[in-house]
Amino acid sequence: MIILGILIIKLVFGYEIDVNTFSNYLDVQIKHIHFEWLLNMEKKQINATTKYQFQVIGESINKICLDMKDLTIYQIYMSNGIIVKHTVDYPYADSDQGQRLNILLNREYKRDEFVILSIKYSIDSRSESISFMNKSQTSTKVMPYLFTQCEDAYCRSLAPLQDTPAIKQTYSATVIQKNIEATDVFMSAEESQEQFWIENHPQIDPNFTWKYKYFIQKIPIPSYLIAIVAGNLQKTPTSNGGRTFLISEPDKINEYKEELKDMEQFLQAIEQYIGSYTWGTYTIVILPPSFPYGGMENPLLTFASPTIMTKTGSGLYVAIHEMAHSWFGNTLTCVNWANMWINEGFTVFLERKASLYYYQEPDDIKLNAIIGNATMYSDILDLGSHSNFTSLHPDTTGINPQLSITEIPYEKGFQFLTFLEGIIGAEDFKFMLRSYLTTYQYKSIDQQEFQLFLLRYLYQQQVDNYSTKRYQILEYWDSWIYQPGLPPIILDFSTNKLIETQQYTISYIIAKGNQPDNYAEYFNFYPSQKKIFLEELFKKAQNKELELNVIEQIDKDLQLTIENDYELKFRWFKAILTAGDKTRFTQIAEFLGQVGTCEISCPVYKALNELDHEFAVQTFTTHYEFYHQIIRNSIQSILEKNHQIIK
Ligand SMILES: [Zn+2]
Repeated sequence: MIILGILIIKLVFGYEIDVNTFSNYLDVQIKHIHFEWLLNMEKKQINATTKYQFQVIGESINKICLDMKDLTIYQIYMSNGIIVKHTVDYPYADSDQGQRLNILLNREYKRDEFVILSIKYSIDSRSESISFMNKSQTSTKVMPYLFTQCEDAYCRSLAPLQDTPAIKQTYSATVIQKNIEATDVFMSAEESQEQFWIENHPQIDPNFTWKYKYFIQKIPIPSYLIAIVAGNLQKTPTSNGGRTFLISEPDKINEYKEELKDMEQFLQAIEQYIGSYTWGTYTIVILPPSFPYGGMENPLLTFASPTIMTKTGSGLYVAIHEMAHSWFGNTLTCVNWANMWINEGFTVFLERKASLYYYQEPDDIKLNAIIGNATMYSDILDLGSHSNFTSLHPDTTGINPQLSITEIPYEKGFQFLTFLEGIIGAEDFKFMLRSYLTTYQYKSIDQQEFQLFLLRYLYQQQVDNYSTKRYQILEYWDSWIYQPGLPPIILDFSTNKLIETQQYTISYIIAKGNQPDNYAEYFNFYPSQKKIFLEELFKKAQNKELELNVIEQIDKDLQLTIENDYELKFRWFKAILTAGDKTRFTQIAEFLGQVGTCEISCPVYKALNELDHEFAVQTFTTHYEFYHQIIRNSIQSILEKNHQIIK
């Protein structure tokens, strides 16, 4: 049924449609947007005018529908100043995906005609895409701070848009702020010397001086990659003569720069596998700890959580992952959120190839695949192995697509590509990926198009045993994409390092609270091995084999409760809470108030909630203001879901 439906849709429109946009993007498409934003960070408000250039794609149109959420619309007018009418409706009663803005045009527009119109509106603290932070929430405490998070369908609370990865547009922006010395602002675009069109803002008080910054993004991008950050910010190159830069509050910038000194080498390692970086420079912003993800791949302006700065370099795979998105995700994009693995699976695949070139540690790469597989398995257990969300093609009809995002598009996507590489051969697969990127650069596609390209490429290259390979590729393709639960083929990532780490874990269990002879081996482990050791402890805790006296001895030897690396610390807390340890609640509550990244704090909340629901709720209430809206929703659903189970 699903496959038949998709074939019919493809026949009509070329690619799968996006069910999470209310816009009429199949009839008319945004080509360029100019944002003009007057920031009032104290009042947590932005006065905005956005000017659009649309092109009619269908036969004719007399209205334009855009996505929006929680914006206040004042006026919509054509380029000749004629004000046009608009209405707002709610295609879904729960409004979780926002509203539809219907703009009634002054006349009928025919195919290929351009429509230029502007919208005056304001953004306030209801916006789910913007975090407005008081200066007390920042590190330097000099001035307020704001940052955006638009993926996947949150950009509609930043501006009325065709909020779908299917549509790519160029953008320019004028950002106006009070001229306070410490303030700066950056966007996912180049800074421009050209001064763009300025509206008259009655809010610009002549008693102050104002700072204007201009931006231009000349490469067409989808709306979810539009980003802005403003605050007490400093920018510095990460190495002499390289292409990579770092932005953060000034008090931490030297510390971060030291940890990120090899960014240029990361970029070169990725290029070695996949080809040239085409976006010019690369900049990473280390945001305040309430940023809800490890990283976000906004072009020219990757956002990252300070939790990746571990002082040991163990969090840098996140930086490599976000860089790899410059090819998969930002240059070649999924056409809807049901095809998210077209972004994430390919990016994880490229991240691990580049990590192999950079670190030269094949075992470490395999161990990372095992850790990713364990996280995916845990998501499958949580969702239920029959849940459609555990497939590589989740149905996001009628829901906020955020709900469908799990580790599955990342790790099952990675495993599917590893499976295909095994059939095709590593060298042929690499050159296929390079050709795939060139063919679809700056476009958005679905998985069916990838399959067609792959088979056409292999045929045209006259690869050996084409018929056999074609059969092997197609035999399991639909199972990989549509079948829920575990992958149809289980891949083997095992290494001797895995066995060593498992034996090390057992040595602690059988020592029954004494120090095992080999305890110091831990200090020579790869970061991935340390994670696997902690995941093994978690499994022992689930099987009720992790005794409290063993926990005490491990902590005495390895000092995990005061560990600086958040990736290790969260796994430690998850394991000991699952084992029933209630002696470290103070440290755990403090930890949960320092990290706003769901990947890290959500598993701890889950374990804490199962052990002591009241304390979990109390901890969440204490830190509620610190968390981003996205993670508040995730934690709330953990607390509610597990509480029902307890009842
Ligand atoms: Zn990613």
